[in-house]
Amino acid sequence: MEVRELAQGWFLVDLEFQGVAQAVAAYVYKGKNGVTIVDTGPSTSVPALMRGLAELGVGEEEVRQLVLTHIHLDHGGAAGLLLERLPQARVFVHPVGAPHLIDPSRLWASASRIYGDLMGQLWGEVRPCPKDRVVVIEDGERIDLGDGRLLLALSTPGHASHHHAYLDPATGLLFAGDVAGIRIGGLRFVFPPTPPPDIDLGLWRHSIERLRALRPTRLCLGHFGAVDDPDWHFDDLLARLFLWAGWIGAQLELGAEPALVAERLQALTDEELQLVSGGGVPLPAYHLASGSYRMTVDGYVRYFRSHRPFASGL
Ligand SMILES: [Zn+2]
Repeated sequence: MEVRELAQGWFLVDLEFQGVAQAVAAYVYKGKNGVTIVDTGPSTSVPALMRGLAELGVGEEEVRQLVLTHIHLDHGGAAGLLLERLPQARVFVHPVGAPHLIDPSRLWASASRIYGDLMGQLWGEVRPCPKDRVVVIEDGERIDLGDGRLLLALSTPGHASHHHAYLDPATGLLFAGDVAGIRIGGLRFVFPPTPPPDIDLGLWRHSIERLRALRPTRLCLGHFGAVDDPDWHFDDLLARLFLWAGWIGAQLELGAEPALVAERLQALTDEELQLVSGGGVPLPAYHLASGSYRMTVDGYVRYFRSHRPFASGL
C-alpha cells in the first residue's frame, strides 16, 4: 500500500478502493497534538485506512479530527464507522452536509438511485454519526491542527452543494476534494466528476477561480494524489467541464438518449486517455473515481433541466 509524505506532517494514504490503486486517497496530518484526516473514504476502505494509520505509527486514540470535503460516500462514507473506532475523533463538515451524517438515510437513498445493486459492494455500511461529535464548519473558518497550524475551510460548490476545499497556508497544500476534478497519476487529463443531483457549472467555475486565486503550491486530489501544476490543472478542468456541457447538450438536442450519449462519450474519452498516456492509462482508477459515463451524462442532463442554459426542449 502506498503511504507517502507530502510536506511537513502531511501524508497521502492510498485507500485501495475496490482493490484498485490510485483511485481514492485520504490525507493524514500527523501533529504533536493529535492526528487529522482529510476525507475518510468509504466504509469498504476502512481496513486500508487503518493499515495506513498503523504504518504511520498512529494509535486509534490519537485521531482527533475527521475533516470531510463533502459527504459523497467515496469521501465521507466511513465517518460514522470510524467514530465508533476512534474514541477521540469528531467529524468536521459543511453545514449542508451535517444533517446527512447524523441521519444518512436520504444520502443512502439518493446514492441507491445511482448505484442500485452495487451499493453494498461499493460502500459497505454507512453508520450514523452521533450529533455531539459532528462539527459544522462554515466558509472561512479554521480548523486547529495543533502545533500552531490551521486549516482554512473554503466553500466551493459546483460538484456538490455541500463541498469545502481546505487550504493549509503553512505548506500551500490545497485539499481539493472533487471540485478540482479527477486526475490519476499526474496524467495530463482532468476528468470532471459530474454526478447528479446538484452539479452547477456556474458555481463550479467561480469555485475554481476562487481556489486558483489562493495560489496553492499543490492540489491534493481525492482522485488521486498531489499535483504540482495548479494553473494548468484548473485550465484543463474548466475546458473539459464546458466542452462536455456543449457536446452533451448538442447530442441531447439532436435527440440521442442519455444511454447512447454516455456510450459515445466513453468511446471518445477512453481514446483520448489512451493518447495522452501513450497507452498506459490507469483506466480502472478513472472509471472507479468517476462512477460511470452514464452518471456523468445524467448529472449534466439534470443540470440542463433545472438551469436551461440552451434554448431547447430539454
Ligand atoms: Zn469523489
